[in-house]
Amino acid sequence: MSAEGALVLFSGGQDSTVCLAWALERFPRVETVGFAYGQRHAVELTQRQIVLDRIRTTFPQWGDRLGSDHTIELAELGRLSETALTRATEIAMTKAGLPSTFVPGRNLLFLVYAAALAYRRGLASLVAGMCETDYSGYPDCRADTIRAQEEAIALGFDREFAVLTPLMYVDKAATWTMADELGGAPLIDLIREETHTCYLGDRTKHHDWGWGCGECPACQLRANGWAVWKAQT
Ligand code: ZN
Repeated sequence: MSAEGALVLFSGGQDSTVCLAWALERFPRVETVGFAYGQRHAVELTQRQIVLDRIRTTFPQWGDRLGSDHTIELAELGRLSETALTRATEIAMTKAGLPSTFVPGRNLLFLVYAAALAYRRGLASLVAGMCETDYSGYPDCRADTIRAQEEAIALGFDREFAVLTPLMYVDKAATWTMADELGGAPLIDLIREETHTCYLGDRTKHHDWGWGCGECPACQLRANGWAVWKAQT
């Protein structure tokens, strides 16, 4: 286990919840940060508090390590970007060959803000859920992007930060396997019932894999991952 602490970029979704459990297994001190950027699915900001509360009560061994939660307001990002994550427009592929849910610069900004917070909090590792396996085509989720930014942050802050992305090469089915290995059935239940994935912010329809519209790309990825994982177990 690392003697240092970690800051987890925690949105309240499935991936970042698994990243949080992963960090709680490895670090004696873990803090969390979330970003309010005018996302349509702002319900995730409510759900992330519920997930944190349930982790504290369901997993006392992790709760002792789980420290402060922080929220950073990035409303300007929502105003700058005309995307399907921040505006009521259709979720589709754009002429640039990227999904309309791509918010340019979002993950780059998140990591810089997280590093600034981690610097102040004395935390040397950033843990984030970026994934290039069955990702949604976001260029800022690629391992190459993350490595380049890790180097830029170390230079710009004149301090080494590890940017850890435990899901980088893990597909959505294997993410459920990872959750099962980390926290067993109680963590699977917590992720199903309380984490939020749906881009439209829908928490009115219930499925085996959790709440969501069931139609948007995020719901479809989560549903497919669940189906593949269930078929294996
Ligand atoms: Zn959805």
